[in-house]
Amino acid sequence: MSEPKVNVQMEKIVALCKRRGFIFQSSEIYGGINGFWDYGPLGAELKRNVKDFWWRAMTQRDDVVGLDASIIMHPRVWEASGHTTTFNDPMVDCLLTKKRFRADQIEPMSGDAYFWSGARDEQTGREIREPYSALIPTGKHADSARKLARHFYQQRGLSEPALLEERMEAVVDSTRYNPENGSLVTEPRQFNLMLKTWVGPVQSDEDVAYLRPETAQAIFAQFKTILEVSRQKVPFGICQIGKAFRNEINPRNFTFRSREFEQMELEFFIKPDDVAQAELGAPPEPCDLATPLPNWGWKEWLHYWVEERVKWYEAIGLGRDTLELYWQKREELAHYARACVDIQFKFPFGAQELEGIAARGDYDLARHQEFSGKSMEYFDEEARARYIPHVIEPSAGVDRTVLALICQAYAEDEVPDEKGKPEARVLMRFHPRIAPVKVGVFPLLKNRPELVKKAREVRQRLRPHLAVFYDEAGAIGRRYRRQDEAGTPFGVTIDFDTLGESGPALKDTVTVRDRDTTKQDRVKIDELLPLLLEKVS
Ligand code: ATP
Repeated sequence: MSEPKVNVQMEKIVALCKRRGFIFQSSEIYGGINGFWDYGPLGAELKRNVKDFWWRAMTQRDDVVGLDASIIMHPRVWEASGHTTTFNDPMVDCLLTKKRFRADQIEPMSGDAYFWSGARDEQTGREIREPYSALIPTGKHADSARKLARHFYQQRGLSEPALLEERMEAVVDSTRYNPENGSLVTEPRQFNLMLKTWVGPVQSDEDVAYLRPETAQAIFAQFKTILEVSRQKVPFGICQIGKAFRNEINPRNFTFRSREFEQMELEFFIKPDDVAQAELGAPPEPCDLATPLPNWGWKEWLHYWVEERVKWYEAIGLGRDTLELYWQKREELAHYARACVDIQFKFPFGAQELEGIAARGDYDLARHQEFSGKSMEYFDEEARARYIPHVIEPSAGVDRTVLALICQAYAEDEVPDEKGKPEARVLMRFHPRIAPVKVGVFPLLKNRPELVKKAREVRQRLRPHLAVFYDEAGAIGRRYRRQDEAGTPFGVTIDFDTLGESGPALKDTVTVRDRDTTKQDRVKIDELLPLLLEKVS
């Protein structure tokens, strides 16, 4: 009914992302394509750093191995997983504008609902017996609802519709109306989110394949092969990073809900509780969750992974105070899930899911065993037992993590300019570990060859080890500001002291500027690399 509130903070962030080339619309020169995004030079580095950091956190442990599976898989995979039949969202369309919404995401509204059974054209006498309804705020004049109704019947071919059998009813928390204009929406219809294609030269029903809606199923389908080649023993995990596709009804909140995105998923296979606890019984409650024990059941493993993942977000600069844990209620859980925890980030548009961590029992492997006819059982030599492993699944989104990092980093403050006058600046306070560029290297003046030569030497020293941006154009203050906006945590300036003009004590030293405090320290060139490496690792 009223325009959705414009989120000023998000608008600034989206504008900066475009201006500085973090993220922009796909196919922009053709007007873009809804739900698809491109990452420019800074965004691509940031995204890569997130993925690399996740990959290292997962695989630099003895009990997790990696996989890089194909996007298109045998269509039976999606029958086994249940996606072909149940991966649906309820969808409604506005009867007036045809705008499409996810039925479960419509904001509940209260007010005066007007109903008509149809309309008659005053000129021709033609009648349309199609009911319509419109919702307006309580107490607002009925004419605004009638205007919507007339518009509705005009779209159906009546040039001067007289509305029939009007009645009014007060409604509370209804989700049957378009929140933007108050028009009735259609009844919800189920809409499958998988993107379809055909494999091979024939486009028949037998050749249909799907772009994967999640990376997890490849891990389940290849469980036995990976188990054999990696010689792992349960408990152990398989992780994967890759693209996923969902034909989302309503892509929104910038990259938060996209149609093409990347996931970082771990399937951590564990023993069923009765096997793990056959000899030692269940661990005491509460139990120390820092070091896994052989008799841990699914609850302990779930809590362990929640804590591991929260620590991971902290390590990239998303502190616990920026996150919320949402434990799904029993009625919200998928029928096979024992528990599911969403790690949410407090975005400017509200706390929303970054990652879901679910205890899925043996559902997935059992389904693939049933549909493929191949055994997914594991023989546990230690326990002398045969079983289908159970699984804990931490499933995170790369794009949502990048968006959270961008939202968290965005800041505005004032710093003194060259003349000491306060000047507004925008900066991205990325943690040095994931910042796209780690260090800017600047000769104080461009027109002094000795300074430029030395600065280029410093650049060459750092470049094999760090993402360096070299910049000699414009006033030094402007160059700092440009890097502040890119989120570069350190700026190294080569000045006349570096050349020894103030005596030998300062020769071959440079200034290192901190992005957040703008404080500058003098450091010997020889000590620069270890100092920076320590700060960014
Ligand atoms: P939502 O309820 O927000 O649609 P979901 O619960 O369906 O998400 P999962 O199927 O659990 O999401 O996927 C795991 C992760 O993949 C999510 O936590 C999220 O980070 C990411 N993800 C899922 N759908 C999208 C999307 N459309 N765009 C960007 N990331 C997504």
